[in-house]
Amino acid sequence: MIDSMKKKQVDTLILFAGIATMAFGYFVYSSTTFCHYFGSYCTEMEPFHVEAGIGIAIIGVFMFIMAFRKDQRDYAEVFICPKCETALPFAEVPNEICPKCQTELEPLEGFYERHPELKDK
Ligand SMILES: [Zn+2]
Repeated sequence: MIDSMKKKQVDTLILFAGIATMAFGYFVYSSTTFCHYFGSYCTEMEPFHVEAGIGIAIIGVFMFIMAFRKDQRDYAEVFICPKCETALPFAEVPNEICPKCQTELEPLEGFYERHPELKDK
């Protein structure tokens, strides 16, 4: 439980860092000069602000996606239909319903332990 809570916090952190990075990327993208808060000098960004902005924004988007992917189901997880015994990856059956017999799928892991009668077919 503690581990999953930590993971959740890390996800939130990555999510906000991703948003901040995207915002920073947009800021760089849309500004030709970067003026410092202290002091009255500005850095000329004209030659590279578009490339740099897009690059930073891509990193932000990547972090954003990473944060969400962790929360989502494992798409590689395999499900099996208790009726026709067809094994399907979660990516193909996101509603966990067998496309052939409209039966609710079960996780393949531990399936034959739960249904020993289907073991030797
Ligand atoms: Zn089926």
